Amino acid sequence: MGYYCLRCKREVEIHEENYQGVRCPYCGYRALEKERPTVVVKKLKAI
Ligand SMILES: [Zn+2]
Repeated sequence: MGYYCLRCKREVEIHEENYQGVRCPYCGYRALEKERPTVVVKKLKAI
């Protein structure tokens, strides 16, 4: 499962069963969200 840290926004690989008590390995923040950015980034191709 792909998760991202709510603090540093970095992607964190976590197994669902180990979710509780897990921390962001980068900043130590304990709030992780499923990888689904609230801001929709539109990729525009420069033709
Ligand atoms: Zn973090």
